[in-house]
Amino acid sequence: METLARIRTFLQGFRWQGVELMPYKEEGVAPFKAISRQVLFADPSLGCELRYFEMAAGGYSTLERHEHVHAVMIFRGRGHCLLGHEVRAVAERDLVTVPALTWHQFRATRGEPFGFLCMVNALRDKPMLPSASELEELRRNPAVSRFLDGKPAD
Ligand code: MN
Repeated sequence: METLARIRTFLQGFRWQGVELMPYKEEGVAPFKAISRQVLFADPSLGCELRYFEMAAGGYSTLERHEHVHAVMIFRGRGHCLLGHEVRAVAERDLVTVPALTWHQFRATRGEPFGFLCMVNALRDKPMLPSASELEELRRNPAVSRFLDGKPAD
């Protein structure tokens, strides 16, 4: 399929002209809260997709891991992310690389909307959720435990 020349104007409320505001995921498949998805680029000749995810204050993405990797740029506001066993405060224009099989989650912990761009393979494996024992292992780190409760230290 041919790639079309196209410019989509950035609109108020962190929307783009002609881009649909979608639910983050199908309800009930995984835990998440107050997060939306916009697919900005999805072109078969490119083999990847660029999405924009945004959380309302207190919202979070799914805690998950998978074989495919993510390239993430924080695009709106500030928040925290869990990357592997590390919790980090992140802000606009910070870059986050999520390697294969690495636990990750983003949380809008600053009382404001928090959004990020995420580049991902068009063809990818399904995310895995932590088992009870994996969650217990993650929570052994007090910083991770506080993060998962929505109360990071800094
Ligand atoms: Mn992911």
